[in-house]
Amino acid sequence: MSSIHPQNEEIANAPTLSIVIPCYDEELVLPETLSRLRTLLDDLAEEGAIAAESTLLFVDDGSKDDTYRFLSEAATEDCRVEVLKLSRNFGHQNALFAGLAHSRADFTLSMDADLQDDPAVIRDMLVAAKEGAKVVYGVRRRRDKDRLIKRVPARLYYRILRLVGIEIIEDHADFRLLHRDALNALLQFDEVHLFLRGMVPLIGFPSRIVHYDRAERFAGETKYSPRKMLRLALDGITSFSAAPLHLIAWLGVLVSLSAIGLAIWALIIRLLGHAIPGWASIVVPLYFIGGIQLLSLGVIGIYLSKIYAESKKRPRYIVEAFTRAESSCREQR
Ligand code: UDP
Ligand code: MG
Repeated sequence: MSSIHPQNEEIANAPTLSIVIPCYDEELVLPETLSRLRTLLDDLAEEGAIAAESTLLFVDDGSKDDTYRFLSEAATEDCRVEVLKLSRNFGHQNALFAGLAHSRADFTLSMDADLQDDPAVIRDMLVAAKEGAKVVYGVRRRRDKDRLIKRVPARLYYRILRLVGIEIIEDHADFRLLHRDALNALLQFDEVHLFLRGMVPLIGFPSRIVHYDRAERFAGETKYSPRKMLRLALDGITSFSAAPLHLIAWLGVLVSLSAIGLAIWALIIRLLGHAIPGWASIVVPLYFIGGIQLLSLGVIGIYLSKIYAESKKRPRYIVEAFTRAESSCREQR
């Protein structure tokens, strides 16, 4: 067709987008999330920013509520909806990775189901991508929507990460757009303990940051229990840095040196004849060193358990079912 209109030509060349959304017991938010994202896909396709074959790829991470039923029905109604059902709950990072691995689009965006990540920002991210960025990070502007109990540890955590030399984009969670090249690079990472926001900066490629205001969770409760959050935080450090192991060695040196100092001090007291036959001078260092030893063993244990898990190479997720968007989707619409 030589008489193709320039605008139509642009639409014909528009890249496909796949939005990956991990869901764990999200039946309360999904109706709203789905309708907003469908509208967004319509609008973006109309504007020529993305191709009409773009999809929404929901990952059901072993939900116990009606999440899967809702998603399956949505997939029969709208051929752009893809549903990847995992055989059980594998956790947010694994579920997200599973979704990413199943995307076939030119650009893949990841976001939470709860509408905390503003879907309207996706348009800005696509613009950044069009200008050449292969990784576009969504970074929240303020954290005041998070409760203090989450905000303060988060700040402290970022500081620790920086201290041990881990490069991470502050206030960026898992709201990001990846070009096919960047996604393929990310999918090469073999590790079992996933901490995607630490891994993505390692793949390189030109990147951009797009700021957004993080909203309140639209409905439902957070699916990150304190235990899951702590595990993610620990993974973030121990999967990317051996600094705690070095710290232990230094701690050992420090304790030994102070023990020598203590011995000299005890000797002086003795020589001066002031020695009081107390047990404190024996018991206190005993407990102190005992504590340090337990702590050190604990840190070594954490790394050892990681090596153990990595050496088993267990699958990071298991797929139970996958409803892929029909290739005839475009004609249907
Ligand atoms: N999620 C998941 N598996 C889990 C926990 C969470 O797929 O085991 C999903 C959840 O449905 C949501 C996203 O991960 O789409 C982020 O979770 P949430 O919003 O509860 O975390 P928060 O924003 O409170 O840190
Ligand atoms: Mg959330």
